[in-house]
Amino acid sequence: MVNKLKPCPFCGSNKIYYSKPTPYGTPAHWLSSVSCTECGAEITGRDDKAVEAWNRRAGEE
Ligand SMILES: [Zn+2]
Repeated sequence: MVNKLKPCPFCGSNKIYYSKPTPYGTPAHWLSSVSCTECGAEITGRDDKAVEAWNRRAGEE
């Protein structure tokens, strides 16, 4: 699932960084985030929703 990230919808880069939620970590992060290391665009979402949101955004055009 994580490997299905689309290229950045803003700059087209494939250098996408996915940060998974770590609810049991210290500190706990309930949100996942997908960010572009090229232009800094970032989308966050609960659990794995960031991936969904990112791909939806990327697929809009
Ligand atoms: Zn970008």
